[in-house]
Amino acid sequence: MKNKILKYSILAAIIILTIVQVGCTKELQMVSDSTYMLGTYLQLSVWTTNKQEGMDTIKSSFERIKEIEDKMSANLDESEIGQINLNAGKTYVEVSEETVDIIERAIHYAELTNGAFDPAIGKLVKLWGIGTENERIPTQDEIQNALQLVDYQKIEFQGDNKVKLSEADMRIDLGGIAKGYAADEVTKIMKNKGIKHAIINLGGNVVTLGKKADGTSWKVGIQDPFEPTGTHMGVIEVYDQTVVTSGNYERYFMADDKRYHHIIDPKTGYPAENGIISATIITNSSTDADGLSTSIYVLGVEKGMQLIESLENVECIIITEDKKVYTSTGLTERFQIIDSSFQIEN
Ligand code: AMP
Ligand code: MG
Repeated sequence: MKNKILKYSILAAIIILTIVQVGCTKELQMVSDSTYMLGTYLQLSVWTTNKQEGMDTIKSSFERIKEIEDKMSANLDESEIGQINLNAGKTYVEVSEETVDIIERAIHYAELTNGAFDPAIGKLVKLWGIGTENERIPTQDEIQNALQLVDYQKIEFQGDNKVKLSEADMRIDLGGIAKGYAADEVTKIMKNKGIKHAIINLGGNVVTLGKKADGTSWKVGIQDPFEPTGTHMGVIEVYDQTVVTSGNYERYFMADDKRYHHIIDPKTGYPAENGIISATIITNSSTDADGLSTSIYVLGVEKGMQLIESLENVECIIITEDKKVYTSTGLTERFQIIDSSFQIEN
């Protein structure tokens, strides 16, 4: 009898061990999908032992991004931002907590940059229409009029979640920060689903979740601003961080050999022109990185670098039109130029 129990116990132990072992050695595989939202191409890749779960996670992530777009797009009259804009100068509009949060985060960057970043830039964005069928160079008068309506201090709040723009015709535009927020929300979903390795790429707004499946850091390419999408001038090694770039190549039109791009200087009303053609931020929160990359682009090299050096755990790579590359002090070891026509300038 005792012998029999021993025999069965050993057998059970062997079976359990085998199951545990099979579970452990089950291979991680990559599941990836892409779509077009937030005015850009989105690609999500997750590494998982369960393909179906990976696909479901990506599906939930895309649904969440759609939800954010439906609330925060300035191009949709029925979105919460659309409603705030339609009621500018008239009434308060009740919006969701997360929309208030993002407007407040955007105002934080407006304050930090003395208005170089301004979520009330909407009137100018609409006037230039860059990336839309209405893109054109506005008249001086139009720009002067629009400039009067760009002022984040005229965004008013009431109670927990009511927002109003104090002047008629003012417009909020969260295009400079919402992609980062969406990327942070997707990261949250993936973590909750137990995903340990993923790349979230919302039109060049990248989040690396964990390390690569082989335990090494991810290598994220920095777009060469002079070349077609996918040509990199350098590589940065990261894990569990975000890499977000604002560039003059993302959305623009050409007129008389001049490039008119989508990042507007709220002081002049024209596309920012200070020598910068690309600004990349590396940090933990993609919302912060998005707000900061647009900010630095408008601030210029000197003020931009000063701001980045004053912030903890935030690094940047700035490229100017003469192919000079400025990097913040904490970055040197992790960033490598792979195209020698670019020169590090520190
Ligand atoms: P990004 O590609 O993140 O730099 O964001 C650019 C987008 O932000 C534009 O397409 C506009 O929607 C918006 N934007 C443009 N200029 C500014 C600015 N000075 N401050 C805040 N948002 C801006
Ligand atoms: Mg941005």
